[in-house]
Amino acid sequence: MLKNLEEVRVFMERINLTPGLAQAKPIRDSLKEHYGTDVGRCYQCGKCTAGCPVAFAMDYTPREIVRLLQLGLKEEALKSKTIWLCATCDTCSTRCPREVEPAKLMEGLRQEAKAKGLVADKRLDLFNDLFLQLVEKYGRVHEMGLILKFNLLSAQPLKDAGHGPGMFLKGKINPLPHTIKDNGEVKQIFARVRDLGGEGK
Ligand code: SF4
Ligand code: SF4
Repeated sequence: MLKNLEEVRVFMERINLTPGLAQAKPIRDSLKEHYGTDVGRCYQCGKCTAGCPVAFAMDYTPREIVRLLQLGLKEEALKSKTIWLCATCDTCSTRCPREVEPAKLMEGLRQEAKAKGLVADKRLDLFNDLFLQLVEKYGRVHEMGLILKFNLLSAQPLKDAGHGPGMFLKGKINPLPHTIKDNGEVKQIFARVRDLGGEGK
């Protein structure tokens, strides 16, 4: 809490980011080359964050992740929970007036965080892997299977167990998995990603 005018003045003092931006140019160039999007174009309007359905739960909003990258603070971004909470819905990229693609950045950062052992919380990575395994197997996620496997492998077998009966009675979760009509195409997508060097699970 700010107590007097002097504190307000210090709080509002301008911070010169220009030297930081200049030093971070190699990092921005490398992101552009490897992630296919230019964070240097972002003018911090916040439209990405305003449309993000998960921003409320993130430690850094999508706009802030882009800002960290602009300033070369990539490790902060790699260690964030945000990149694992991103649902890859693409809303941010679609809304961006500067054609920056935060969704692409989140995906690239997830892969890099994993490769460098910088995952903020191993449970987030586990959830991500299990989710993809089920989508590959059935063409869509099987919520019950996901919950059970996740709870078991993350050593918290009774997590949210109290919600189970109510959700089951309301038809929100099904004990048996449903598969889609032609799951072959989904499997082909996973195979193609692996061929291109993606990890897949
Ligand atoms: S919408 Fe685009 S320009 Fe605006 S803050 Fe997000 S990334 Fe930056
Ligand atoms: S792609 Fe990720 S960061 Fe972008 S709006 Fe969707 S959940 Fe948010």
